Amino acid sequence: MKVEVKVNNNCNLCGLCEETCPTNVFQIVNQKLIINENNCIYCRGCEAICPQKAIKLKALDEGLEITITQTLTTLITPLK
Ligand code: SF4
Ligand code: SF4
Repeated sequence: MKVEVKVNNNCNLCGLCEETCPTNVFQIVNQKLIINENNCIYCRGCEAICPQKAIKLKALDEGLEITITQTLTTLITPLK
């Protein structure tokens, strides 16, 4: 799964996401938040814990589209 991890300007560098993320996506270095979104496993812990509601996650999972297509095909088949 590919995940987009965005942090907006409401971030106050509290460091909670850095402590919470199990895969070390966030690092605060020289008063800047570094995001390594390739490590994200979409657990959504950071989104829940951020006191500023500054983190926006977007899962880009192509597998989800395939599942929906298969369901539609199954529904359409009896009508043929
Ligand atoms: S938890 Fe939220 S406010 Fe705190 S450093 Fe992370 S993004 Fe910024
Ligand atoms: S969703 Fe989970 S893995 Fe992804 S950045 Fe947030 S805490 Fe880390």
